[in-house]
Amino acid sequence: MPRLHNFSAGPALLPLSVIEQLIDALPEFDGTGQGLMELSHRSQSFDNVIVRAEEHLRTLLGIPKSYTVLFLQGGASLQFFMCPLNLLCPGDGADYLMTGTWSSKALVEAKRCGDARPVWEIQGPLDRVPQDNEYTIRDNSVFVHYTSNNTIYGTQYSAAPNTNGLALVSDMSSDICSRPIDVAQHDVIYAGAQKNLGPSGVTLVILSPRALERSALSDRTRDGGLPSMLNYGLMASKRSLFNTPNTFGIYALERMLSWLKDQGGVGAIEQKNTAKANTLYTELDRSAFWTPYAQPNSRSIMNVTWTTPSPDLDALFVKEASDAGLVALRGHRSVGGLRASIYNACSLDSINALVSFMQNFESNHG
Ligand SMILES: *Cc1c(COP(=O)(O)O)cnc(C)c1O
Repeated sequence: MPRLHNFSAGPALLPLSVIEQLIDALPEFDGTGQGLMELSHRSQSFDNVIVRAEEHLRTLLGIPKSYTVLFLQGGASLQFFMCPLNLLCPGDGADYLMTGTWSSKALVEAKRCGDARPVWEIQGPLDRVPQDNEYTIRDNSVFVHYTSNNTIYGTQYSAAPNTNGLALVSDMSSDICSRPIDVAQHDVIYAGAQKNLGPSGVTLVILSPRALERSALSDRTRDGGLPSMLNYGLMASKRSLFNTPNTFGIYALERMLSWLKDQGGVGAIEQKNTAKANTLYTELDRSAFWTPYAQPNSRSIMNVTWTTPSPDLDALFVKEASDAGLVALRGHRSVGGLRASIYNACSLDSINALVSFMQNFESNHG
């Protein structure tokens, strides 16, 4: 079976060259006489892997030296809880910008840790992200949380919210390393790896010194202290090796980041990603047969969402596309319609194939 044009929202496409390097590492790795998955996480060879992964990330994203990089487990979904648990002490507030399902899930968990509230919500379609002047930060708030790219709706912030110095936390699961970001403007950045960074099972967490200070404070003030596996400070002091990490996933992530460097880094990949997204949005804007979901100034360059004139035609689109080798185009079950997830590893070839398919589909059914 040949590899198809894969538009999966996650776990998502990986570059074939990376997959081939992973295959190579399985029976024997780095002259150790042991396979990658059979190697101690305390071995020198694995230590080199985790150190290199962190170095790549620091170079690619321009992470300040004073910041900490962690490779944890539990997905972004565990960070929904772990992050506020570490940042909030009793009485502290946290302000959430509600741009969709993932923000809502994050808020549910944050409420277990402190006075977390929405400060921006919209009624109706979740087709845009807020402007800075549309919400007010509360007096007792110690951080603002935003979802930089809304995987399900296809909306994305073009710049991080301005919090006037208040701590800023971001779920970047679906756009991390797709474009340059100002890490120093953030206190916590977290992302599940399975969209842009590799396979599922690794969670990247980037922490400012202030976030670590708050974690220490939360550890001291919470009854019995923070649970070990949920303690940023402990994980940082053990360099993500407090317990057995996902060694295979971290190696895959390291190879993905090395591939990204070979592509020219995040500035170069942003140009490619923008070109890919523009090709698709140009087609969506060309004909009234398509209705793009996101408002133009909130359009995502990672997840492109739209509908045809009817749910039946949407379903037919998914089926005929799949028959033509273009897979995983069904919209998320909560919004319906169509979605193309076009992360870093998705090629312009796949986008062009999708656009030709769309034009044929319109001629046949329009
Ligand atoms: C996929 C996704 C998640 C969920 O990640 P898990 O790793 O499955 O917990 C959370 N937030 C965003 C923005 C996502 O795209």
